[in-house]
This record gives sequence, C-alpha cells and structure tokens, in this order.
Amino acid sequence: MRILVAEDEPETAQFVANGLREHGHNVLLAGTGLDALHFGLTEDVSLMILDRMLPELDGLSVLLRLRAAGITAPAIMLTALGRIEDRIEGLDAGADDYLVKPFAFGELFARVNALNRRAAPQEAVTRLVAGPIDMDLLRREVRREGVPILLQPREFRVLEELMRHPGEFVTRTMLLERVWDFHFDPQTKIVETHMSRLRSKLNEGGLPDVIETVRGVGYRIRTS
Ligand code: CA
Repeated sequence: MRILVAEDEPETAQFVANGLREHGHNVLLAGTGLDALHFGLTEDVSLMILDRMLPELDGLSVLLRLRAAGITAPAIMLTALGRIEDRIEGLDAGADDYLVKPFAFGELFARVNALNRRAAPQEAVTRLVAGPIDMDLLRREVRREGVPILLQPREFRVLEELMRHPGEFVTRTMLLERVWDFHFDPQTKIVETHMSRLRSKLNEGGLPDVIETVRGVGYRIRTS
C-alpha cells in the first residue's frame, strides 16, 4: 500500500517510514505542508499520516485542502499537542484518527491497520473474470466455463496477475516481482515453466488458448 507521511522532524519521519517499509508499504515522505499537499493531490495514496505542525502549511490545512479537492484516503493526524480542542479540530478537518507524540510504532501501526480494514470493503475484489475464465479470490478457485481447474498456488498467482490486468501485457519482470518477489532476474525458466503448466491446465482438452504470448513483450489474458 502507498502511504503519504508528512513529517518535518527527520528522526520521526525516518522512524515512521522505516517501520512502514519493513511491513511492505511504499512510503512517500513529505517534509513540508506544501509537499504533502502536492503529493496528496498528484499521487495515488491509500493512507495519509500528517503531522499537525509542518513548515509552509500546517497539517490541518493540508488535510482540509485535500478533502476539499475530493481526496478521501483515510488520514491519521500526528501531534505533540494533546489538548482536546486539537483533537476535535483534526477530526473536523477530516482526519480519521489522531495520535499524540511521542508514540510507539506499534500504536501507529495498529491504527494504520484498523483504517485499512475499514477502507477495505470498497477496494476488495473477490472475483475476477476474463473471457471464459472465472476466478474466485476468496475460495481460491478457478473455473473455465464452469469447469473447475486445479492450480498450484504459484500458477494461481500468475493467472491472478494476468486477470487483474485484462487486455494488458504483463511482463516477465512484473511476474518475477509480484509472484516470486524476485527483484532481479534469476536466470531461470521459472516463469516460462509455470506459464506452460498453467496454459496446459487452462486449455485442457484442446480448448482455445486464453493466454497470448508476445516474445519480448509479455503475456496477456484474452478477454473474449
Ligand atoms: Ca512537526
């Protein structure tokens, strides 16, 4: 998940950013209110952690402007001030939660997770369909025209990546990163091998191939 962290104290900023990155999140750091506003308006972020006191433009004003611009990503406001008025102001400005400094990373992380869970129902996709293929992400089931197809977990993940991008080419590098978490080329035929097994299972019985391969470009699931 992509998280915007607006904090001008370098130590706190690093502490928060490192903690989030260790949990697999992508962090955008802003050191001033104007930078935070800019990121919030131009980048696709799923959550915002905003310090109340920021140079150039304070966190509260940043949030008010983002909300006015229609940005609905949940926001956690950080503050050194523990007064009840500040809390109310923050919530009025459109913050979803509030955390008083100093805090332990675990406290912040629990709030991040709680907000994610709350936001999840709008984002969660549980079923993907492409042409004759139907994928149920909750039951981990794949069917072709109603006929169940048994896939190994990696084959399932490869197919999921293709089905999440219907009509688009997914490259070998993308698959290596997203399915195997390899950020380098392992110099093996791992993708090709899985793709070949996946294909033979999907097309069993001589059915038309649902995956298109373009050498040097990637793989694409057919949508019709
Ligand atoms: Ca500050």
